[in-house]
Parts: sequence; C-alpha cells; structure tokens
Amino acid sequence: MALRRPMIAGNWKMNGSAELAKELFKKFTAKLENDSAEVVLCPPSIYIESVRQQLEANKAQLNGALVRMGAQNVSQHNFGAYTGEISAKMLNDAGCQYVIVGHSERRRMYGETSAIVADKFAAAQKAGLTPILCVGESGPAREARRTFEVIAEELDVVIEKNGTLAFDNAIIAYEPLWAVGTGKSATPEQAQEVHAFIRSRLSEVSPFIGEKIRILYGGSVTPSNAADLFSQPDVDGGLIGGASLNSTEFLSLCSIA
Ligand code: PGA
Repeated sequence: MALRRPMIAGNWKMNGSAELAKELFKKFTAKLENDSAEVVLCPPSIYIESVRQQLEANKAQLNGALVRMGAQNVSQHNFGAYTGEISAKMLNDAGCQYVIVGHSERRRMYGETSAIVADKFAAAQKAGLTPILCVGESGPAREARRTFEVIAEELDVVIEKNGTLAFDNAIIAYEPLWAVGTGKSATPEQAQEVHAFIRSRLSEVSPFIGEKIRILYGGSVTPSNAADLFSQPDVDGGLIGGASLNSTEFLSLCSIA
C-alpha cells in the first residue's frame, strides 16, 4: 500500500438526515472495495449516532472497507459552562475518530480565528481525535498573489501552538474559499501547487511528516473533476461538501480516489 492511503471525507454541513446515513451504507455495502480510499462521514452532530448505528449494523458487509466517523466542529474547551458546545471527548465517546477544524464557514461566520483553530486542533488531539485542519485563501487574496502567505499564516499559528510533530496525527484540507460551494473548483494545477507548498513547509521541520501527511483538496469536487484533481501527486483525496449528500456521487468519488 502507498504511504498515504487516499481519503474521501464527506462534510454534510447542516444537511442530511438519518435516512441519508441508511442510504449511504446501502450503497457502500454493495460497492465499496476494501482497498479503496478511507471514507470519513462528518454528519451534523445530532446524526453521528445514526451513522454509528449504520456502521455497526453493516460492519460485516463492508468487506474490510475503511469507513470512519468525524464531526464538523469541536469546542476548544474540555468541559464546563459552554452552552451548545460539544467537547472532543464527547465526540470520541460517540465513536468519532476525526473532526474538521477551521472550516472556512466557521472562520468566516462564527468568528473562529486561527488562534481558536489552533486550540481546537490541540483539544481534538488531546482527546484522541485526528483533526482535519482546513486552510485556504479568499478570491481577493489569490488575485493579489497572497495565496502562499495566507496558507503559511494559517498553518504557522497551529504549528506554533502544537509543534510540527503534532501533524503526525492530522489531516490537512486545502479549501480555497472561492471554490467552496461555488461550483468553481480549483484546477488540478492550482491544487497541486498549494498542496506541494504545504507539504514542503511541514517537511522543513520533519521530512517524515511532510511525506506522510495526507492533504485533501476541497471545493466543488464532483465525479466529473475528481479524477484530474486526485491524480495530482500531492493530492491525497478530497473533503466533499455538496456531492457528499448524493449517495451515488459520493460513492463514485470514493472509487475515483
Ligand atoms: P463543496 O464544499 O464540496 O460543497 O464545495 C466543500 C467543503 O466545504 O468542505
């Protein structure tokens, strides 16, 4: 097996239902191969238990295919008076192995600064979860040729708090803001350029981690553009929003990766 097993993570955002969980597993059990990509489902927290039940009920029929659960957000705090929040330990208790941190929608709409994202990254790891850290530049930043600068800044805050070695247990998702939910994906060349940049930045401190870390591309991935994106040498799969809600498209993305 390659050093980096491809991953397809489905970010349902505030969509989906217990029914969608059922439908996905019906498709998985018929079609998912045990040597295909690692699949991660990130439903809204309220449906994590529905997904867990489906995972449990269909375990035998999955033929060894790797399907895991993740959450879309986590509190940076361990416990206490934080109404509406969910801690990393609770997610772990619920059966999650992954959690998305720093998604652009949370940075933009919920005031999550890179410092908060770095704390969430730490909280996730402390509870035994693997963070999927999202980074990405806005459209104006790209036009101003500030893409690398923005990505480096977002990474550096997390590195400063947690150390480069913490990336031994992390996934990075490159999600350009102008591509998320817009139908306008990055080109394979644009994605590869940024993925290579991220990998080389981590390699500066640890060549091993740079080589090993999986870097997903996210932003309007569909079955029609996925093959070209996923075939880039530094693209290790995708973080899928819209297309993760359609079981046929999602399964097709899992096979392409
Ligand atoms: P999209 O979302 O695939 O709908 O563009 C990706 C994401 O936000 O993770």
